[in-house]
Amino acid sequence: MNAKTSFDAAVIGGGVVGAAVARGLLGAGLSVCILDEGDIAHRASRGNFALVWVQSKGLGMAPYGAWTRRSSDAWAGFAEGLREETDISLAFQRPGGFSLALSEEELEKRRTALVRMHNQPGWIPYDWEVLDRPALAKIFPDIGPDVVGGLYTPIDGHVNSLRLFRALHRSFALRGGSYRPEHAVTAITPLSAGGFRIETARGAIEAARVVLAAGVANARLAPMVGLEAPVRPQRGQILVTEKTAPFLSHPLVTVRQTDEGGVMMGDSAEEAGFEARIGLGVLSVMAERAVRMFPRIASLNVVRTWAALRVMSQDGFPIYDQSESAPGAFIATCHSGVTLAAVHAETLAPMIAQGALDAALSPFSARRFHVPQAA
Ligand SMILES: Cc1cc2nc3c(=O)[nH]c(=O)nc-3n(C[C@H](O)[C@H](O)[C@H](O)COP(=O)(O)OP(=O)(O)OC[C@H]3O[C@@H](n4cnc5c(N)ncnc54)[C@H](O)[C@@H]3O)c2cc1C
Repeated sequence: MNAKTSFDAAVIGGGVVGAAVARGLLGAGLSVCILDEGDIAHRASRGNFALVWVQSKGLGMAPYGAWTRRSSDAWAGFAEGLREETDISLAFQRPGGFSLALSEEELEKRRTALVRMHNQPGWIPYDWEVLDRPALAKIFPDIGPDVVGGLYTPIDGHVNSLRLFRALHRSFALRGGSYRPEHAVTAITPLSAGGFRIETARGAIEAARVVLAAGVANARLAPMVGLEAPVRPQRGQILVTEKTAPFLSHPLVTVRQTDEGGVMMGDSAEEAGFEARIGLGVLSVMAERAVRMFPRIASLNVVRTWAALRVMSQDGFPIYDQSESAPGAFIATCHSGVTLAAVHAETLAPMIAQGALDAALSPFSARRFHVPQAA
């Protein structure tokens, strides 16, 4: 087999982040290869909750709020572009999203966090409101008696994230990208003439640019090109019920009804290292809260549960960076890769194709982690 071994760009990792960036690089006219460990790897892209979510994103980093909002605004066009190209409908909807509270204390805590977030310097405002129980009951007529109120943001939405994943990979193939599964990268060497030699279990390739998008594996790969990625796995668990007639018109941060009718409940945030097994204690707490919000869920059979590992940085915000010592090496890693897929493909990738990240992305550099250490 005469597989091509030289590319304008190599993307390491074929999860939703790598696949979105690769889409944008191909769109910019580059020849692109995705080197992917494959499904045996720890992979958040197949186990997420599928929200395209803005509410609650950005407390502590206003530019992250703006970046998330930008992606959310771009999502409808992004989904339509993928549908036209691949014939896969992503079932993207943006009806506005809720987070419901089961006590006054919980409601106040969430409200205060949103007020603090929206009061940050440089914040780009958007609408949100607190709804009391009677207002909520008009939207969700069968909410449970324990719900005291909730927060609403009109720009929140959700999608079928497995179809997103499939559409990104199909479009990559249609656009002439070279996808190499079971090509776990073991070493990356910057070349003196520029570009990189990338070693995998199945041979080496060379590329003028390299983008690290290997999820939690970025922590190990980044130092090979003078970058850093202090990310760790954070486990999240999800339950899915049998399909039922539509009853949830809006996604909630912890409960949503999919386009296919199942009800998803999730998702926990647990520090469990690389342990990706489910835990019945956590699942039962999540299910109990969902049933208190919508008692009708109690009559539905749970048909699937799973745990998956988030890619979490120290402060929870994304890391986008470019190497100073090895020009042409970039990193992209985040814990909301579904929400951010549109900006990864349409904003971040064109910067990488041009050879440099915009100054507007400098708050996302891993250099931010040096400040507290030096203080
Ligand atoms: C429970 C849960 C719920 C979530 N809910 C949401 C949500 O509602 N909305 C949202 O926006 N996001 C959500 N997320 C986050 C989202 O799923 C992740 O941000 C996203 O999947 C990260 O994608 P990734 O491509 O960076 O990483 P991954 O999906 O982990 O993919 C990494 C890829 O890198 C490959 N790889 C690893 N090592 C190597 C190597 N050495 N060489 C080559 N390839 C390698 C792997 O094979 C894999 O394909 C959730 C995540 C979890 C776990």
